[in-house]
Amino acid sequence: MSVIHCRIITPHGVYKETDASIINIESEAGQQGILPNHMPLVTMLKIGQLSMDESGKREEYAISGGLFYFRGNKAEILTDAIENKNEIDVDRATSAKERAERRLSSTDPNIDIIRAQVALERALNRLKVKGR
Ligand code: ATP
Repeated sequence: MSVIHCRIITPHGVYKETDASIINIESEAGQQGILPNHMPLVTMLKIGQLSMDESGKREEYAISGGLFYFRGNKAEILTDAIENKNEIDVDRATSAKERAERRLSSTDPNIDIIRAQVALERALNRLKVKGR
């Protein structure tokens, strides 16, 4: 059976290199399941969930957006940050959520609203992937 050889790259280097029988991504076009022999594809990933069946086991990740590239049963995912569900620190994500919410409700004109909104989205996504 064909598999997809997938490499996930962050600014820290190669986060993971694995074979997957399906990669489920979230892009602006919605949710998409990428199976072996899919046509070539380049798409932007949203802050959301990524899942893959690796050696028959479903692995779930929180991903902070990025770029997905697929061709010839090779996938590359470039992202600023990704965590496996079991790597997510709930206390840290909760603190990040509260910090962002405080910034968004502040009247301080120096607050970067877009930055706080994106930080909130990342924190909520981590909590969602963790099932909180
Ligand atoms: P924080 O304010 O807590 O740093 P953040 O959303 O600003 O949150 P990022 O810049 O997205 O953090 O990520 C920085 C690094 O920390 C990345 O390697 C990311 O995988 C990791 N990271 C961030 N939040 C968590 C978390 N809740 N659990 C595990 N790893 C995390």
